[in-house]
This record gives sequence, C-alpha cells and structure tokens, in this order.
Amino acid sequence: MTEIRVGHLYPEYLNIYADRGNIAVFANRARWRGIGLQVEAIGPGDELRPGVHDLLYIGGGQDREQALIAPDLAAKGDAIREAVDAGAALLAVCGGYQLLGGFYRDRSGAELPGAGLFPLHTVAGERRMIGDCLLECELEPGVKRTLAGFENHAGITRLDKGAEPLGRVVAGFGNDGESGVEGCRTGTAIGTYLHGPLLPRNPWLADWLLAHALTHRLGETPELAELPEKLEREAHLVSAARARARGGRY
Ligand code: GLN
Repeated sequence: MTEIRVGHLYPEYLNIYADRGNIAVFANRARWRGIGLQVEAIGPGDELRPGVHDLLYIGGGQDREQALIAPDLAAKGDAIREAVDAGAALLAVCGGYQLLGGFYRDRSGAELPGAGLFPLHTVAGERRMIGDCLLECELEPGVKRTLAGFENHAGITRLDKGAEPLGRVVAGFGNDGESGVEGCRTGTAIGTYLHGPLLPRNPWLADWLLAHALTHRLGETPELAELPEKLEREAHLVSAARARARGGRY
C-alpha cells in the first residue's frame, strides 16, 4: 500500500482552533482511497531531513508559544525550503504561516525570526482580525475555487513585491485587512490565516496537497478517486454565508 509521510511541526505548541483536525482530514481522504498516512511529530531539537516527508504541516498558536519555538523553526529554514523545492507539499496555518515568513514582530514588540520560506513579514497590530473569511483561489490556471474558514490574528502580514497570495478576499480581513488578499503560495507550499480547522470544509485543498504529496512519493501524478462530499459542501456553504454576513468587521 502506498504511504504518504507527513512531518507535523510542533504539534505540542502550535495547535489552536482544532488545527490538528487538518491531519485527520488528510488521513481519512487518503484512507478512503486505500492510501496510508504516517505522521511524524517534529518538535524542538528534532532534525528535519529534506526528502523524508511528502507533506509538512504546521498549525497556529498564541504569541507565547510562537516565541518558544521560533528560533528552532528558523534553524530548520534551509531544510524546509529544500524539501519544498524538491516537491514536498506544505500547509501552514496562522501562527505557523507567520513564522515561515521573514519575521514576526509580536504584540510585545519582540521580533521572532522566521524560516524564510514565504516572501513576507508580519507585525502584530493593536486590533485582532477575527471572524469567518471567504477567499477565491486559482491554484491551477483557470480553475477558480472558494476557500472558507475562520481567522483570528493580531498579525498584519505584508507580502513582498511579486509574492503570490493564496487568494482574493471575498469577505473577511485576510493578510492585513486592506490589501484584499489572503495567505501566500510558493510552489507546493500554502500559507493561510484560516483556521476552523480549514480542511473539513474545503476538501479540494486537502486533495490538492495530497496529490502533490503523492507525486513527491511516487514520482508521478496520481489520479485521485472522487469522494462523496455532501457534509463538507454544507459546512463550506454555512461558513461562506457567515463570512458574507459578518466577515471583515472589527
Ligand atoms: N499569535 C498570532 C497572532 O495573533 C497568531 C495567532 C493564531 O495562530 N491564531 O497573529
């Protein structure tokens, strides 16, 4: 049986708003297609060997937890970039997304080093950006899809010139509450502020990442069998409606 190897970065520190639930979605959508998923927790002091994992995942967290792991994560920056350059898929949520940029200046004014995967930096603002958020994404040319989730961040993220956002904000705050874009994408790596967890209500993104992880494992792009998505679609519509109704308001 084909097995996808997942590296879960700092699960004991960065896991709020049920971000760990994203791993369960990867596991179930793989299992329903007869594919295994092996998850290795990677914590402070653990080595990250490029090429070992097909999929890297990091969740969100409060400033306190981010400060505890930021230097260790920054020291893994080269290995993470090498892994993604070699085709490993990556999903980073909120606090983890911020720390995969250049730096995060938190609410205390402390500048936490970033791993330098995403061309961006983040500075915590006075007001938190909280609520449901709806994006329009186009990860494949001509294929537009919506992404619905929940955001809660003080961080104001600025993308470097030429950086590719994950999507256009339809409703919500997004990276900074003004630029109209959310997240960042570099190759097979996706960064976003969207919690929820994100993937149960957006299975297409889980499949996009699984397909890239399988390509990394197998050396060829697999055809993923379609799965029934009635509940997922309903959850997406509810979240999207909440975002349209209330998203992006302090
Ligand atoms: N601590 C960061 C912020 O406030 C990230 C929060 C999170 O992961 N939800 O912006």
